[in-house]
Amino acid sequence: MKLADKLQRPHLAELVPYASARRSMSGGNVWLNANESPYCNSYQLDDSQLNRYPAFQSSALNQAYADYAGVEQDQVMSCRGSDEAIELLIRAFCEPARDAVVICPPTYGMYAISAQTHGAEVIEVPLLQDNWQLDMTALIARAAAAKLVFLCSPSNPLGQRLAAEDLHRVLTECPDTLVVVDEAYIEFCPQASVAQQLNQYPNLVVLRTLSKAFALAGARCGFALANSDVITVLKKVLAPYPLPDLTVQVATQALSQQGLQRLTQQVSALVTERERLTSALDPLPMRRIADSDTNFLLYAVDNAEQLIQALAGQGILIRNQSAQRNLPSCVRISIGDEAQNQALLNELNDYFGVSA
Ligand SMILES: *Cc1c(COP(=O)(O)O)cnc(C)c1O
Repeated sequence: MKLADKLQRPHLAELVPYASARRSMSGGNVWLNANESPYCNSYQLDDSQLNRYPAFQSSALNQAYADYAGVEQDQVMSCRGSDEAIELLIRAFCEPARDAVVICPPTYGMYAISAQTHGAEVIEVPLLQDNWQLDMTALIARAAAAKLVFLCSPSNPLGQRLAAEDLHRVLTECPDTLVVVDEAYIEFCPQASVAQQLNQYPNLVVLRTLSKAFALAGARCGFALANSDVITVLKKVLAPYPLPDLTVQVATQALSQQGLQRLTQQVSALVTERERLTSALDPLPMRRIADSDTNFLLYAVDNAEQLIQALAGQGILIRNQSAQRNLPSCVRISIGDEAQNQALLNELNDYFGVSA
């Protein structure tokens, strides 16, 4: 047995690490598999402080995000993507081998992976299959005994939001559980955010990221929004210099008035493209699983892996979601720019033998 295998924590021996889009597929030239933005924006970088450690938290960045989200600065923590916020929540609030987190699959994979890495129990309360909404009776029963509940709205991989009244009920009926609402795609439906309700619910945590609509997946910047006592605990487990100076500069510019204007334009272009793609896919033998409030679509097809490989052979990458609970043979397609979506449509028409 190799030394590392002998020494590693026993629960890690069985752990299958997260298969990110970037890790599981390479090559291609049309990347529609990671819900990234197709737009790449330019930034001004100042290298005059790169010999200095950055701030633990940049107050300029946190204030800019607080203004954008409509919360107070002491309700914001910035970190290395919302993936880091997920991990910090688990590390700060879950005792290994004793505490549990609740997830509602199909959902984002990192909640369970982070919990398992840390040795916290993962309790699944699957979404209802007829409408992909929360199974409220089961959820409230299980959540009351857990430290954290992870809810994703709008959902990755489904694309649709959770009902506002259900979120309100979980927050009200599980007052001793932190209810984490992951709003990674909220820029595509800003009116659905629960961030404005932080003052009402001491147990609410909202996760945000610049990786999707803000087109900054490579900068690695995310935010946890919560009441200041929760933020204070999270900061105990946050690294001393969590965000590179370069990332802080880029993120602050993305949140400037100009940056936000560009965001609005790009979001509306993506929504237009999403509607165009949805209609164009309608006649094909693919069944849309849910309405999308995001920059991606989810379809059931006859043979997901075969379709994915056929597209990959043409340089187009989409993502298999068939390993998700209750999503057999499903593929997730991120919305690209017009040319990328057209390339996808052409290949799909070919694949299904429909003449354009
Ligand atoms: C992409 C994504 C994240 C991770 O975002 P980062 O900020 O890049 O770590 C978190 N949650 C959901 C639901 C996502 O889709």
